[in-house]
Amino acid sequence: MDYSTVVDVFTEMEATSRRTELTELIVRLFRSTPRELVDKVVYLMLGRLRPEYEGVELGVADKMALRALAISSGLDVKRVEEMYVRRGDIGEAAEEALSRRVQGVLFRDKLTVERVYYTLERVAALKGQGSQDAKIRYICNLLNDAEPREGKYILKMVTGRLRLGVADYTILDALAIAFAGGKESRDVLERAYNLTSDLGLVARSLVDGGLDAVKAIRMELFRPIRPMLAERVASAEEALERMNGQCAAEYKLDGERLQIHKHGDRVKIFSRRLEDITSHYPDAVDAVVTGIRYRDVIVEGEAVAINQDTQEYLPFQELMHRRRKYGVEEAMREYPIALNLFDVLYVDGKVCIDLPYMERRRILEGLLVDGSSGSGGSDGGSSAGGGGRTVSIVPMIIADDAKTIEDYMFKAINEGCEGLMIKDLNSPYRAGARGYSWVKLKREYRSELADTLDLVVVGAFHGRGRRVGRYGALLLASYSRDDDTFYTVCKVGTGFTDEDLNRFYTMLSPYRMEHRHARVNSRLEADVWFEPRIVVEVIASEITLSPLHTCALNSIRKDNGLALRFPKFTRVRDDKSAEDATTVDEIVSMYKRQLKVTRQVHVGGE
Ligand code: AMP
Repeated sequence: MDYSTVVDVFTEMEATSRRTELTELIVRLFRSTPRELVDKVVYLMLGRLRPEYEGVELGVADKMALRALAISSGLDVKRVEEMYVRRGDIGEAAEEALSRRVQGVLFRDKLTVERVYYTLERVAALKGQGSQDAKIRYICNLLNDAEPREGKYILKMVTGRLRLGVADYTILDALAIAFAGGKESRDVLERAYNLTSDLGLVARSLVDGGLDAVKAIRMELFRPIRPMLAERVASAEEALERMNGQCAAEYKLDGERLQIHKHGDRVKIFSRRLEDITSHYPDAVDAVVTGIRYRDVIVEGEAVAINQDTQEYLPFQELMHRRRKYGVEEAMREYPIALNLFDVLYVDGKVCIDLPYMERRRILEGLLVDGSSGSGGSDGGSSAGGGGRTVSIVPMIIADDAKTIEDYMFKAINEGCEGLMIKDLNSPYRAGARGYSWVKLKREYRSELADTLDLVVVGAFHGRGRRVGRYGALLLASYSRDDDTFYTVCKVGTGFTDEDLNRFYTMLSPYRMEHRHARVNSRLEADVWFEPRIVVEVIASEITLSPLHTCALNSIRKDNGLALRFPKFTRVRDDKSAEDATTVDEIVSMYKRQLKVTRQVHVGGE
């Protein structure tokens, strides 16, 4: 398959801001792709070579990519660097440099998708000393034969900057239309994707064996499952209503979610975003190897920073010190953790996800080497691992009245938790789904918003005064699952330290775009736009109607959306992906609840 076919479609994809058109383009591309390349084309479209959880990185720094570009174009490195600075985009610099190639354009071999993919695979595989020169040679090998517009995508890809802004769900739609007779088959594909987190695998199975092959896909050890997510409720009563009168109430710990896969003493840990974070948690690895009595398990839990002397839970921020490549051992001693398991997905050949909650909880409670029952409430879960509480089962009670839940929530908060997770006793583990089988109950809503929101950075405004040269304010958006779009809800300019401002600049630059992203809906014109990737947490005093923002536009009042009043930045949520942000629906219910509370306060005051 000619690489130029892929490049032509990518170019059109970048130019469109309509989701239906994006889907049609991908369908067209899939239909012109030979079977054995469909998975490769899926990965290339996502700017990767393999599913994200495998952590295959091309590892090419800008400098190295520019050197390759200089060699292939015959231009001076300085000149190529100057093009990069002027264009602000390495892909465009490549296009310009290659179109001014010094040597003639005769005798070039046409690039194929196969050649590009396998060459990039070699680039990714090169590690250690001397690998840089070899990487450059491989990249030059491609660039020498590349048309300028092909070179653009090759350089974007090797530097990790190829972002076409396609959501996973759009790719599933396109696969269903191209190979499975229409969108009706999408659920089957989505299920397989949720169990494997690998769109390439789903695509390949579909073209090789049809829908039956996709239906036969099972979860497997060391391949992460897309996590089950929770909705939010306002009160214990509402939680109970959602659960038909009886539920499990678990402590909601404020740490990092870990999905742990274990086979004997081989362990892998995946984050909520399915990155391999095993290296951050050698202590969690030890704890499950020594603390879990079965050979093969997949469990989920929350790692929380603790005070070693008092065994008290510490805030989420403390845990962030554990996110590092170097000095892990030292960080482990300085910031010890407790691991609290809250679900089990697989044990010794038995798939548990389709079992009801209570059944899974029973299995979970039997997992630990010296574990006893974790339910009943009084002192929480069982524990194992080196005598301390390194690995435990999260404390839980069964409740059927609001008072019991509220008392338990009070206890949880007093012990340093965020609140409670309320779970439906009969629900299976719904991989990749957010729903009311799990709901989170955080502190009560007052007329002032006590709760935080997680919002996506979609744009920014240049700073003034002390903030010149950095971003002065960020444009934040909520997420709508219905149409896979981000709707703006506030501009935030307070709560940042100087260090935060510098950090934002570097963190956001890779996602910078020339124009508004196709999945962003905004009435405001930002100075700079970003691909929706970075999630930040904010607090605010209340939610108000606003003609400036598009969140829930027209749904409460014509020509008005909802906005946050006095938003303040609190922290970056790099454990969340853009699609995990607070949703438009959640903001609408928060707004309605706030109205109710305000009314009560007024009535009470009169
Ligand atoms: P949130 O991040 O506010 O959407 O809340 C969901 C997150 O709470 C999950 O992804 C877990 O990381 C965390 N969590 C803490 N305790 C529990 C628990 N007992 N059950 C499930 N998730 C929990």
